[in-house]
Amino acid sequence: MESVGSAPLILFDTLSRTERPLVPSDGQRLRFYCCGPTVYGPAHIGNFRTFVLNDVLYRTAIAAGMNPFFVRNITDVDDKTIRDSQADGSSLEAFTTKWTQAFHEDCESLNMLPPDVEPRATAHIQEQMDIIQQLMDKGHAYQGGDGSIYYKVSTFEDYGKLSHFNPEELRTQDINSAGAANLADEYDREQVADFALWKAYKPEDGEVGWDSPWGKGRPGWHLECSAMSMKYLGETFDLHTGGEDLTFPHHENEIAQSEACTGHTFAHHWMHVVFLLVEGKKMSKSLGNFFTLRDLMAKGYDPMAVRYALISGHYRKQLNFTFHTLDAAQSALDKLGRVLDTTDPRPPFGPDKGRFEAAWKLLLADLNTPATLGSLFANLKAFDPDREADLNGLATVLFALGIKIQPESTDGVAIPEEIHSLAQARWEAKRNRDFQIADALRDEIQGKGWKVLDRKDGFDLEPL
Ligand code: AMP
Ligand code: ZN
Repeated sequence: MESVGSAPLILFDTLSRTERPLVPSDGQRLRFYCCGPTVYGPAHIGNFRTFVLNDVLYRTAIAAGMNPFFVRNITDVDDKTIRDSQADGSSLEAFTTKWTQAFHEDCESLNMLPPDVEPRATAHIQEQMDIIQQLMDKGHAYQGGDGSIYYKVSTFEDYGKLSHFNPEELRTQDINSAGAANLADEYDREQVADFALWKAYKPEDGEVGWDSPWGKGRPGWHLECSAMSMKYLGETFDLHTGGEDLTFPHHENEIAQSEACTGHTFAHHWMHVVFLLVEGKKMSKSLGNFFTLRDLMAKGYDPMAVRYALISGHYRKQLNFTFHTLDAAQSALDKLGRVLDTTDPRPPFGPDKGRFEAAWKLLLADLNTPATLGSLFANLKAFDPDREADLNGLATVLFALGIKIQPESTDGVAIPEEIHSLAQARWEAKRNRDFQIADALRDEIQGKGWKVLDRKDGFDLEPL
């Protein structure tokens, strides 16, 4: 494995607008934060473009020996979660817990690794109030006419440095990533660019509100990510990521409030994933091109093909998702499945990548996933499974891309993950001469409708 300090991974940085090595600044772990989902319904495939790319980044950093520590939050309080939980007749907590579970199921279907920490905004209200207090004490925040607390943008000289906007050009920033208003009345603010850190309670908030030194209310949306990233990663960390729409105002505001609070650089490196289009257009329910993972699975698509399609374009370019792309992804996976019976490669990986060295290097060069896939397939023809380095190289690249090949039964039916694990456990029990356990597992597999056929060097599975 490459050493932690050797910085093999190059990534474009939105802040400096250059490709720069991604460095674990403490020499130990690459600490990074991704803005997570707002849990008020199923995530759509556009959201998953951003999250899957972050998973590729996480996996690549693991495979490169950078020992990443990855935090991705859950936004479980905002206008949408409050509005939709009320419409659903559930408490905010019950409602957001349900959609968080649905998100986790989708992540698993897409073979995404869970982050190291997944904090929820409502479990970090105190941390958010602490930041507000410090900003008040330092003169960066004030209470508006409506009782809300606002960040005074004019007190932060660097405002606009991430999005490369001139502060004078800023008109309004009260639109969130879903296009909905973040804040009701701009006349309560001194300047239109000032944003809410604490939103005073309104009757529409129903049961949602927390007591604070500034009255009952709830945190503004931007604040949660500053509070949770700094809590788990420190006041300064290595990388902050999200979809391109978050650059402004969300990330700009995170920088302003965090750096004004601590006096230090917030994140050294910024990565933004460009939006996914569907059939050439921005996804929208009215155009009929709005898809969740579940929609595609209900049409019979394999989630692995969805993942493949999502990484088939470079993250800094728009990706046009079509059903043709999805079919092409499925045939690429079928082709891989004919060459390999590897299921789900896991680290540690050796340094010699054999004929897949080029594919690996392309991934380290600003996560060029389409070029990596191209190189992988170009080298697949001459792939020699008896060559240790080739096997290691292929396993490394497939792990980093998160591509798992579904094992096929002897008559071509996909074997459910659970059946395969049971059969694997039985095979290991047999090798350890635990015949009683092996027999019990065979019965269990049979009870689920599958038959194990023993071979000298392994097993086959057949539906009964
Ligand atoms: P949200 O749940 O609205 O907070 O969004 C979660 C993530 O998905 C954010 O990082 C957004 O920037 C990202 N996102 C939203 N729409 C798209 C899209 N069409 N393509 C890529 N990323 C998106
Ligand atoms: Zn965020």
